[in-house]
Amino acid sequence: MKKSKFIVIAAPSGSGKTTIVNKLLDEKTLNLSFSISATSRKPRDNEKNGENYFFISKEEFKNKINSNDFIEWEEVYKGVFYGTLISQLENSKEKNLIFDIDVMGGLNIKKKYKNQTLTIFIKPPSIIELQKRLRNRNSETESNIKTRVDKAKDEMLLADKFDYVVENDILETSYNEVFNLVNNFING
Ligand code: 5GP
Repeated sequence: MKKSKFIVIAAPSGSGKTTIVNKLLDEKTLNLSFSISATSRKPRDNEKNGENYFFISKEEFKNKINSNDFIEWEEVYKGVFYGTLISQLENSKEKNLIFDIDVMGGLNIKKKYKNQTLTIFIKPPSIIELQKRLRNRNSETESNIKTRVDKAKDEMLLADKFDYVVENDILETSYNEVFNLVNNFING
């Protein structure tokens, strides 16, 4: 059996990462399945449990940490936990897995599965542009936006630890670039 490959797409919140991940999932030739993370944050209006995330309480999350159920987990924002469950990797079977996780989480997956993993950092054109995109999303409060922008500044300092950095200025161009990298890694 061919070993599954892992694709980590990491980027500051609001860089267009989710759009890119969803487009990749539609590409049949890549044979990708989405790694569903667990989180202690509340679902947004359009999100479904077991599809976007496994939405669990903070207490349940901490129990899972204690039972070593996670390959990696992070307190991405103060008091808000996100993590990749070992069961996601075990269930991937013959599919390749794509991870939409934060920068530290992505680098941890790479450390554990070096040869099997491709890491791509999606860079927003600028912090101002990122702020604009987060506001346009209309799902975050101003204080949430500030938290995300502050985190983005820190994350951008780690971009060069990724295998590739792709700037997301014009979506179609960046998508093609990402697709080629992923396709070469999986099918090349
Ligand atoms: P959001 O709340 O916008 O869905 O996600 C916030 C951040 O948490 C994003 O950067 C997202 O990629 C990251 N994230 C989602 N799942 C995981 C995970 O399993 N592990 C880690 N380390 N970060 C995650």
